Amino acid sequence: MSKKINEYENTNRLFDKAADLINLDEDTRLLLKTPFREIQVEVPIRREDGHLDVFLGYRVQHNAARGPMKGGLRFHPEVDFDEVRSLASLMTWKTALVGVPFGGAKGGITCQPHELTHEELERLTRVFTSRISFAFGIQLDIPAPDVNTNAQVMAWIMDEYSYQHGYTPGVVTGKPLELGGSPGREAATGRGVSIITQSAAADRKVDIKGAKIAIQGFGNVGSYTALFLHEAGAKIVAIGDHTGALFNGDGFDIPALFEHSRKERSIAGFEGEQINPESLLLLDCDILIPAALGGVITKDNAEDVQAKMIIEAANSPLTTTADEILNERDVLIVPDILANAGGVTVSYFEWVQNVQVFTWDEEKVNNELLNYMTRAYDTVRDVMKEQTTSMRTAAFSIAIQRVAETERIRGDL
Ligand code: NAD
Repeated sequence: MSKKINEYENTNRLFDKAADLINLDEDTRLLLKTPFREIQVEVPIRREDGHLDVFLGYRVQHNAARGPMKGGLRFHPEVDFDEVRSLASLMTWKTALVGVPFGGAKGGITCQPHELTHEELERLTRVFTSRISFAFGIQLDIPAPDVNTNAQVMAWIMDEYSYQHGYTPGVVTGKPLELGGSPGREAATGRGVSIITQSAAADRKVDIKGAKIAIQGFGNVGSYTALFLHEAGAKIVAIGDHTGALFNGDGFDIPALFEHSRKERSIAGFEGEQINPESLLLLDCDILIPAALGGVITKDNAEDVQAKMIIEAANSPLTTTADEILNERDVLIVPDILANAGGVTVSYFEWVQNVQVFTWDEEKVNNELLNYMTRAYDTVRDVMKEQTTSMRTAAFSIAIQRVAETERIRGDL
């Protein structure tokens, strides 16, 4: 997946397009584009064979105007400041768009977690936390899972933080239920993607029952997205992950694939026609859902995308040039800050439960999620129509206006 583009520049180009639409003044642009704080720490760990490795960990806290900063932690070889800065900025717009009282942040460690043992991963997480936890806090910055991090990693962070600061489950979200996690959080991003996909399909007069869908990525987000859309009657005809891609024109048995991938930690070995992973993005289908890493649709392959709609379950799966090409071709692109906002929305519910020390049941979580996602979608669609603009520019403009207004009221502008 591409790392050749400057990701923060890419995100700021999207910002500027929306800022132009709402005639945002230069001072406000400057303030909103500049990250609040950026931290890099060395993360030394002793490997199983006795040698010392030093990894680099990052946290970019982008904006705190609307509340404590919120965003995931990614463990991946391509993590760097540029990527984290871009993802942190997206979190600021995402939380504002969906209307949860948080700002934006993101972090990660440059590493290949598949090459670490369970014990090494735990050490890595704990050392990172101990060195950076001065910047975390229930009213300050609250990490969550992202690529290659999960409830177990969140549990280690919560435990390490609590050694230093006293029992504080609310310092991370996406925790195991036993430690104050929320029912419904694990599935929340995929559930949100599925809600938004169904709304967008209805608007585009695509019947979700029988709609052909290709999904890149079968981790947390991709697998739950597939599961909920399968339940809604869609045919998931192609699935890809880091091991390859599979095709089944009749639609996969998604519950069986879900179970297989949980056991095997990949889709490899599941029945289906093996296809070139790159061609998955170009399949003749109704809906394409990139749910892995960023920068997968670029100027080089955007012309060849055949789907009528792209739902950005992953963050930044399209470069700005690809976005322009596809918009010109009238492909509906539902932007990441809307499509995958279900995760941070239920993270907010988890944080609320932790602060109140009161647990909700899953039905309440899912109903509230539906309310938040539907409200955000309807608002974006209305602005898109009123302004005759893309769904992305509409979404960014709503979010930017909300953050700018808060900055003004607080006196920063
Ligand atoms: P994950 O680690 O659970 O899964 C990542 C998936 O991507 C895996 O199936 C992996 O095999 C696949 N993948 C990795 N490299 C690939 C490659 N080169 N080609 C094809 N597939 C590849 O991560 P996740 O939490 O599901 O996150 C996926 C995306 O969704 C990321 O962009 C993340 O930022 C975004 N996101 C996640 C959440 C969340 O709650 N987890 C919330 C919002 C957005």
